[in-house]
Amino acid sequence: MENQQQQRQPASTKSRFRRLCVFCGSSPGKNPSYQLAAIQLGKQLVERNIDLVYGGGSIGLMGLISQAVYDGGRHVLGVIPKTLMPREITGETVGEVRAVSGMHQRKAEMARQADAFIALPGGYGTLEELLEVITWAQLGIHDKPVGLLNVDGYYNSLLSFIDKAVDEGFVTPAARNIIVSAQTAQELMCKLEVHLNDNPLPRSTC
Ligand code: AMP
Repeated sequence: MENQQQQRQPASTKSRFRRLCVFCGSSPGKNPSYQLAAIQLGKQLVERNIDLVYGGGSIGLMGLISQAVYDGGRHVLGVIPKTLMPREITGETVGEVRAVSGMHQRKAEMARQADAFIALPGGYGTLEELLEVITWAQLGIHDKPVGLLNVDGYYNSLLSFIDKAVDEGFVTPAARNIIVSAQTAQELMCKLEVHLNDNPLPRSTC
C-alpha cells in the first residue's frame, strides 16, 4: 500500500536537496518580475519538498519568498543578527527564527544549514553573500551548488564582468563554472539538480 502511494507521488517531489539557502534583496525591486520570481522560486521549493534558510524578516524579496515557502507548508529558517531583530528593521519573520551575534555568524549559519545556494536579484548584501559562497566553492571550503536566478537579465552585466575576469586571467574557467544561472526558477532548479551530480535525476523531475 505504502509502495503504491509512493508510486503515485509526482516525480517533481523528488529532489537531491533538503534545504536551500536563498540570498535576495531586502527591497522588492522596481520591476514586478523580480517579485514574481521570488514567489515562483518559493513555489518550486514547495513542489520539490525543499526547506528554506534565508536572512530572516519580511521585507522585500526576502519576505515574498519566505511567505511563499511557509504558505506551502515547508520549513522556513530565518537567521538574523541580534542587531537586525527589531521588527521595524526587518519586519516579522515567518517560521523559525535563529538569532546570531553578527553578519559573519549569519552567513556561516546559513551556509551550514543549506545544501545549495541561490541568489535572486538584490543589492550589495545579496552580491556580497553570493560572491562569498562562490569564493568558498573556489577554495574547496564547500562543494554545494551555487545558482543565480537571472531574472530579466538583471545579472547580465555581472556575468559579463566575470567573463572578462576569466579573459584577463583572474578567474579560472573552472571557477567560472561554479555559477549555474538560469532565467526562471524552474529551469534553475533543474540545472542545480543535475549539476555536479554523478547520478542525475530523471528529466521528469524538471
Ligand atoms: P540587499 O541585497 O543589499 O538588499 O541585502 C540583502 C541581503 O543582506 C539579505 O540576504 C540579508 O542577508 C541582508 N540584509 C540586508 N538588509 C537587511 C535587513 N534590513 N534585514 C535583514 N537582512 C538584511
